[in-house]
Amino acid sequence: MKPGHHHITVLGAGIVGVACALFLQRDGYRVTLIDRLGPGEGCSRGNAGILAAEHVMPLATPRNIRKVPGMLLDPHAPLHIRWRYLPRLLPWLWRFWLCARPHAVAASSQALAALQGGALTAYGTLLEQARAHQLVRTDGWLCVYESEKEFVADRIERELQRHYGIRVEELTVDEVRERLPAISRSIQRGVLYPDSAYTINPHRLVQVLAEDFQRHGGIMQRAAVNNIDVTPGQRVRILTDAGAHETDSVVLALGAWSGRLSARLGSPVPLDTERGYHVMLPRPGIDISLPVMFGDHKFIATPMEHGLRLAGTVEFAGLDAPPNYERARILITRARRLLPRLQVQGHSEWMGCRPSLPDSLPVIGRSPHYRNVYFAFGHQHLGLTLAAVTGRLIADQVAGRTSDIDLTPYRIDRFS
Ligand SMILES: Cc1cc2nc3c(=O)[nH]c(=O)nc-3n(C[C@H](O)[C@H](O)[C@H](O)COP(=O)(O)OP(=O)(O)OC[C@H]3O[C@@H](n4cnc5c(N)ncnc54)[C@H](O)[C@@H]3O)c2cc1C
Repeated sequence: MKPGHHHITVLGAGIVGVACALFLQRDGYRVTLIDRLGPGEGCSRGNAGILAAEHVMPLATPRNIRKVPGMLLDPHAPLHIRWRYLPRLLPWLWRFWLCARPHAVAASSQALAALQGGALTAYGTLLEQARAHQLVRTDGWLCVYESEKEFVADRIERELQRHYGIRVEELTVDEVRERLPAISRSIQRGVLYPDSAYTINPHRLVQVLAEDFQRHGGIMQRAAVNNIDVTPGQRVRILTDAGAHETDSVVLALGAWSGRLSARLGSPVPLDTERGYHVMLPRPGIDISLPVMFGDHKFIATPMEHGLRLAGTVEFAGLDAPPNYERARILITRARRLLPRLQVQGHSEWMGCRPSLPDSLPVIGRSPHYRNVYFAFGHQHLGLTLAAVTGRLIADQVAGRTSDIDLTPYRIDRFS
């Protein structure tokens, strides 16, 4: 597709949609971004902020599958399924189980590693253009363990990371304390990922990038998309609550809400949502110099410009069920034990919908049915990390450039 007057509309102004819009704009296209709320008001608003370039292990693994029954019976476990939602989730769980077979785990890891290889460099391009480097810190992050058993069990993941050339530093308890004096004496081990990064405000990051998009002539429209059609002349017609919108090409980047419209375009996908929670502590009363993941409990404490954020947990309950903030409060209880001097006064709570496919891979690429329809969604726990590289790959596809990454593993029809 030649730039010039070609008009591309990106649906969804989360971190993924904004990154797609920026890379398309850099190629010279006229770009419009449509969102029902505004930039970064969906899942991208409240994540843990980690640019987790070390993350190459999919969620569906034999070890995680073995943990599921125990977690289901424990309301305080990092994973929870609302019983009422279980019948609707069963087809997704079945596929998740299939994705835990060794060859499928190896394929997903390889595909994740390929994206991760370009993740931080692609961010560099966007941050430099927007002069937003101050929002991202490159100090790495730390995973700590109370139990030697969990630390040893996670060795498989560390071996996989080293296999892909990722730097992993195993720390003794004294080395952990040196970096995190506020941590509980129950912590026994640590692992440092020195080459990963984090943002001190994920919400502001999306907003700053969206402002940059507008500064360079991009149009931002606030409207809820209800339907979408490709006319015989290959124009795309988008029906919104603010009227019809016509465009030459469209990128569907609606995060967890992408499934209905992708099906409408002839490409149904097993997309569900892993809901996650955060608690924001404006005056934590302790100094945490870099993000810390509690490996036994699967949540993260990230130092942000407006306080300390505790984030994590997975809840399967669908897109429409009201939040259960009890899940967020579990994070406070756990964190108070692990960070004994933590202050939680004035805290706020948030819930976001991670867009998740059973194989832990996003959908990135062109529709098999329409040459001017592109998909960029389903980034599960890694949407912040992989947004920029996704934007770059979508721009390559639109421009007809050969990408350095083979897009076959991310195609939308891989489950059919
Ligand atoms: C607790 C938690 C912690 C996390 N931590 C991390 C982390 O540390 N690192 C990381 O990489 N990832 C993390 N994630 C995952 C990450 O936040 C998501 O993968 C990412 O935000 C998804 O981005 P997105 O742009 O695809 O979706 P969203 O940010 O959800 O954007 C989708 C947009 O589409 C809009 N929209 C939806 N439907 C319509 C419609 N019909 N019409 C118009 N607009 C519509 C919404 O308003 C929204 O703005 C975390 C997630 C959670 C919940």
